[in-house]
Amino acid sequence: MLSNIRIVLVQTYHPGNIGASARAMKTMGLTDLVLVNPRCYPDSEASRLAAGAEDVVDGARVVTSLEEAVADCVQVVGASARLRSLPLPHFDEPEAMARELVSHAADDPVALVFGRERFGLTNDEIRCCSHQVSIPANPDYGILNLSQAVQVLAYETFKAWRLRPESEFRHSRPAEERQPTREQLDHFHAHLSRVMQASGFLTQPHARTEAQLQALFARAQPNRKELSLLRGLLRSLEESATGD
Ligand code: SAH
Repeated sequence: MLSNIRIVLVQTYHPGNIGASARAMKTMGLTDLVLVNPRCYPDSEASRLAAGAEDVVDGARVVTSLEEAVADCVQVVGASARLRSLPLPHFDEPEAMARELVSHAADDPVALVFGRERFGLTNDEIRCCSHQVSIPANPDYGILNLSQAVQVLAYETFKAWRLRPESEFRHSRPAEERQPTREQLDHFHAHLSRVMQASGFLTQPHARTEAQLQALFARAQPNRKELSLLRGLLRSLEESATGD
């Protein structure tokens, strides 16, 4: 279960923060670290600050986009000190977030995403997430160091795992009741865009309409069965249009 919980660091500037984050992860039983375009990696400073968690640093995977880092995940929670910057479901309490994350991790990979030291996550990156979470902090000074934010959320995750309800020890959910992966959702939205354009509903790619529909489906959280129903509907609309 804990091995299904991934920590993703986006374009980390200071390699020391990678090491300190690895240490924070290992203390809480997490090992899956993915780095999106780190400025310096591998780096001796990262290994030095890992202080015994070098295995987590050495085992990190490096990818070139957040999309790639989370494609197989069913829940992707972006950590942000900024409140409700986009219309994604928002967890005000890390505890509630961690309980949900742990419950999904029983069956599928999930991710916690952390932004750059200087300017956090871009709006496009937040759009790759299914949810946002903020660590409640001093309103006048509420931004934590990157690795300390990792520590707080890793701690909450470990706590939720320790205290998980007994029902989550044995049962795994049937595949169709599980959440779709980010990649499956992306394919659905691409399909929806194709149908909207082919039908003349949109005359050209329209980012705003697409973003609104993405927000709608992010709130609705369709499961795999519901998503395949929607794909079937889109296919049938396409077929009836070409049959005319
Ligand atoms: N200056 C940046 C903050 C960067 S701190 C900004 O304005 O967004 C580096 C990362 O640590 C953030 O991107 C976020 O993922 C995490 N972080 C820091 N403080 C946090 C908080 N209070 N709640 C949630 N995440 C936080």
